[in-house]
Amino acid sequence: METTEQKMLLNIRQANTDDLLDRITAFRAGLEAEAIDMIETELRRRSVTANQIADHQAKCERDCVFYPDGTAKMCSQCRKPAVCETWAWHRLLWIIPLFPRWTCFCEIHRPTVPAAAK
Ligand SMILES: [Zn+2]
Repeated sequence: METTEQKMLLNIRQANTDDLLDRITAFRAGLEAEAIDMIETELRRRSVTANQIADHQAKCERDCVFYPDGTAKMCSQCRKPAVCETWAWHRLLWIIPLFPRWTCFCEIHRPTVPAAAK
């Protein structure tokens, strides 16, 4: 039987480097100290430098949308940090528009029209 720590380590090992950089920067405020240590160890194992982490942190601080506690908001379509919030239709089965709601989007899923306000 796997322990929680083993499951966490497996999850970290299977994640791509960009996802780990998002976790250690944008979502750091929501992580346990043990998870931070495990992710930093994995990034070192992958030869990611402190400068690369600092660059990702600076980009995140510049572009992401945050909760008051300092954790980045997550895209409503994927697990990337959100870079904008705007009104979007909540859809039934992703097809039928039901009602507009305030929604977060990452760079990939950001609506192109109308221009979204940060
Ligand atoms: Zn997204």
